[in-house]
Amino acid sequence: MDISVIVPVYNEEGNVNLLYSRLSNVLNKICNEWEVIFVNDYSKDNTLSLVKKLSYEDKHINYLSFSRNFGHQIAVSAGLDYCKGKAVVIIDADLQDPPELIEEMYNRYKEGYKVVYAKRKAAKGISFFKRITSKIFYRLLNKMTNIKIPLDTGDFRLIDRVIVEHLKNMPERNKFLRGQIAWLGYRQTSVEFVREARFSGETGYPFSKMLRFALDGITSFSDKPLVAVSKTGFAISGLSFLFILYALVAHFIFKSTISGWTSLMICIAFIGGIQLITIGIIGEYIGRMNKDIRKRPLYIVEETSDKYDENDINSSNV
Ligand code: UDP
Ligand code: MG
Repeated sequence: MDISVIVPVYNEEGNVNLLYSRLSNVLNKICNEWEVIFVNDYSKDNTLSLVKKLSYEDKHINYLSFSRNFGHQIAVSAGLDYCKGKAVVIIDADLQDPPELIEEMYNRYKEGYKVVYAKRKAAKGISFFKRITSKIFYRLLNKMTNIKIPLDTGDFRLIDRVIVEHLKNMPERNKFLRGQIAWLGYRQTSVEFVREARFSGETGYPFSKMLRFALDGITSFSDKPLVAVSKTGFAISGLSFLFILYALVAHFIFKSTISGWTSLMICIAFIGGIQLITIGIIGEYIGRMNKDIRKRPLYIVEETSDKYDENDINSSNV
């Protein structure tokens, strides 16, 4: 198998067929043996039946279907567990990532690069809010961590089998694949493209999921929030100590204690706020560990295209 293409799909009925024809055009042109794995992340629309139909008609097409919505990163991870290609492409289903770019990626791969990621020169049809928050997030993340996650890239990329095997051995449950791939090293390069607007349907990444994803990115690669929290803790304790001294002096020496309601309220609110934030940050890390310790399977596959032999699958969740 030369190339496997992994496509996570969540409510993509308007995109699946066009994506299939564009993908098969490129893949037939550049290699002999290829497969496309659609990972259905519990779509509520007609996506699964469209995908099934494609898989009956074309032996290149396989699918996995989850028992519930597990999220984009896990859908991609499942695809990685099942794929067989020497080179593996991860691509979104909404045609924001142009399938035709795979040709250029594959050429770079044949020059010896283990990771070829697609870097967007420009992005059309995304909201101002999303653009700004993602810019801030990636710059912040690069400041907070030692690994360099390339800016303006998503998960659209081609990776070598070696990278896939390493990813399968990374046991964390809160996946942040683009960070994990950057962390792995090897020879990596990029090709540029213009990101179009979503062809059909709506984004499956509302603000809440974006926030979750951002927190996973930070907690998987940086301990800085914990360090910052303890530093703030020390600074505030220092200030409180001074304040206590002042309160005692005012009471016993100057005998000038004021009615004090305002200062008291400010102190309580301030310290209380800081404590809650601190506990929240610590909680994020503990939650992470808790998930890893439970060792539940990463995802549940309800149905597959039946072309898989159970023994073939080296799943990362065992
Ligand atoms: N997706 C998924 N599960 C989800 C949300 C999204 O598998 O819970 C898929 C979706 O079908 C698409 C890709 O992940 O192929 C990227 O999602 P989307 O285009 O909605 O995100 P955006 O491009 O708006 O960030
Ligand atoms: Mg999209």
